[in-house]
Amino acid sequence: MHLCMSFDRYEVSCMRQKPAIAALRSMRSAPPAAAPAVPVVARLSANENPLGPSPKAMAAAAAAIPTMHRYSDPNNTALRTALAAHFDLRPDMVLCANGSDELILLIALAYLEPGDEVVMADGTFVSYVMRTGMMAATQKKIPLRNGAHDLAAMAAAITPKTRMVLICNPNNPTGATNGAAEMHQLLAAVPDDVLIVVDEAYIEYATRADFPDMISELRGGRANMIVLRTYAKIYGMAGLRLGYALGDPAVLDYLSKTRPVFDVNALAAVAGIAALSDTEHLEASRAQAAEARDLYVERLTAMGLTPYPSETNFIAVPLPAGVSDAAVVAAMAARGIAINALGAWGLPGVLRISFGTPAENILCLDALRDILAAQ
Ligand SMILES: *Cc1c(COP(=O)(O)O)cnc(C)c1O
Repeated sequence: MHLCMSFDRYEVSCMRQKPAIAALRSMRSAPPAAAPAVPVVARLSANENPLGPSPKAMAAAAAAIPTMHRYSDPNNTALRTALAAHFDLRPDMVLCANGSDELILLIALAYLEPGDEVVMADGTFVSYVMRTGMMAATQKKIPLRNGAHDLAAMAAAITPKTRMVLICNPNNPTGATNGAAEMHQLLAAVPDDVLIVVDEAYIEYATRADFPDMISELRGGRANMIVLRTYAKIYGMAGLRLGYALGDPAVLDYLSKTRPVFDVNALAAVAGIAALSDTEHLEASRAQAAEARDLYVERLTAMGLTPYPSETNFIAVPLPAGVSDAAVVAAMAARGIAINALGAWGLPGVLRISFGTPAENILCLDALRDILAAQ
């Protein structure tokens, strides 16, 4: 028998691979996770809500467990109806999926041909790079300005070959935001046949008074825009997997053709409805993040650092010149604190720290202070 695959490497196989997919980094090729030398005591690396899910969402999911042998409604009618009421949109302007990350994949699949140009920031959510890359699109990455998208430069980068503009507002991984005036200038500059994807995964944390209202654009009939939202962040349901797209009914109908029929699980579908009604959980989560943000800004500034302006549940901070982000992340990991270095996101020398509980935040800041003092 001819063995095509070696068992300790995934690189060799007989079957033809698509180059654009083969070029992606495998999530499987890392060595099998050995038990980490130091157990993680503070997981501040994935922008999760330290308060956990809403008690109402937990109760709804628990109540649905006995019927989980049944497929859920493939149209997610009840959830879409609840979301539509929440946003004052029509139910056919909502499409639910297994996390908004899945929607990024489906949007790329639905709208991009090889060689199409996509415009995005240099230093934004890695899924945009992976999924548009997977479709062999040509990526035009526009440098950030103080952590936020340079929307004027992005508008100027649009050519007749541009099919999509991706915007993350607030931006992950910097936490910085764009305001309404510059966003409306961009919208005015984008041709009608170019899709604008606005990922608002962190919008519930945003504080600026002039934060752009993209849903009112949709209410007004704008067809070339998809707004992405998620239950993974402030709603505290990252592990349950639920996200949704808001947009023009015909656009979402087309996009839905790429979607696996039963991709929203039955527990998520009911928890998502219940979570919408829990304003107490939402307010408490927002307040805890605001308190954490003040603490991080104060203490990072006292360390001589200048964090990016954050309107999210995390903060990104450039390290002093010459200090290795990877070394700092490793030293933090040795103390059981998981944070991110942003080199792979296009921002070498920058750390991203997700806000945890008050005790986790103090642990993190004390450790960072000690580690930087020893550099
Ligand atoms: C976390 C995140 C998402 C997606 O989350 P899902 O868990 O797939 O819903 C999407 N966009 C950004 C910018 C994020 O940070």
